[in-house]
Amino acid sequence: MSVMTMLGEVDKKELGVVLPHEHSCFGVSEFLTPYDDWEMEKTFNGEVTLETLGLLTRNPYAVRANNIMDCPDVLIDEIFQFKKAGGGTWVDLSGRRRRFSRNIRYTYEIALKTGLHVVAGTSYGLDQNMGKSVDTKTVSELVDEMLTDINVGIDGTDFKAGVIGEVGTGKAITAREYKALEAASIVQKESGLGLQIHAYLYNREGLNALDFAKKHGANPEKISINHVDVCLDMEYIYMLLDQGVYIEFDNFGKEFYCDARLRNWLEGRFAYDFERVKALKEIIDRGYIKQILLSSDLCLKSMMHKWGGWGYDHILTNIVPMMQDVGITKEQANVMLIDNPADFLDR
Ligand SMILES: [Zn+2]
Repeated sequence: MSVMTMLGEVDKKELGVVLPHEHSCFGVSEFLTPYDDWEMEKTFNGEVTLETLGLLTRNPYAVRANNIMDCPDVLIDEIFQFKKAGGGTWVDLSGRRRRFSRNIRYTYEIALKTGLHVVAGTSYGLDQNMGKSVDTKTVSELVDEMLTDINVGIDGTDFKAGVIGEVGTGKAITAREYKALEAASIVQKESGLGLQIHAYLYNREGLNALDFAKKHGANPEKISINHVDVCLDMEYIYMLLDQGVYIEFDNFGKEFYCDARLRNWLEGRFAYDFERVKALKEIIDRGYIKQILLSSDLCLKSMMHKWGGWGYDHILTNIVPMMQDVGITKEQANVMLIDNPADFLDR
């Protein structure tokens, strides 16, 4: 009963406060299309500055550079802020994506320099970023790849994956996504590791992903359905909870709203943190506290302190006190931040 980190196996009781869904590298910029308005296009191709911060708090995709985490030293400093605020474990779900491929040595560097327990994931992402090799490989080859990451090491190193994910599933799950999810589900069954599934933000496609994963042997009690706190469709959330899975509120700090003029990637609004906390209170009161995971999925420069954001310590610094305002106790916060992710990551 232990959790695999960059520095080896750790007892689950040692993890402390966990952010179960973060990324060491990220970039969706190539999928963003420039605006046809000249002024907006100029902004889109410019830098993240104090002048653009207001715009970015509405629409994070209004500046291309905001979506590229090309700042490895800054990132480590920012992650260290989580440790300073009382954090214990940071989970890197960058996975095996072709375009934003993770350098596992960098993930190791994060562990060394921050002193946090760092857990790395293995998986393919969404269809548009999983690369062509998925087409030529069989499901069992994909399974073997991930099991190698888990049991032998990632990319020829000794660093082993400690979680599966995040597995990408889109608005309508594509054949390639189903293929990668099938492999990930088999790997879950064989390894016993937690499985993080990215579900589309604005519909209930996560239910189809879950059905499919279960059909291929994954244990629902080791599955986390991500991003349910973007539109807070409570009926959907309870449908998931009733199947025994974790639901992940992993967008703390993202409170976006962009209207039709600015919309090019974002389809709707992101709930506000206070709405998320109120929803958590309701879910807790209905008896589902043991199935909740919390994270920030920080993937934008404007979310980091350096660029005016709340950083990786946002949940500890701002959200835990906010929880107390709606009647969620410190003990309940600890169940969601310490006990649940420890159970989820434990093998
Ligand atoms: Zn993510």
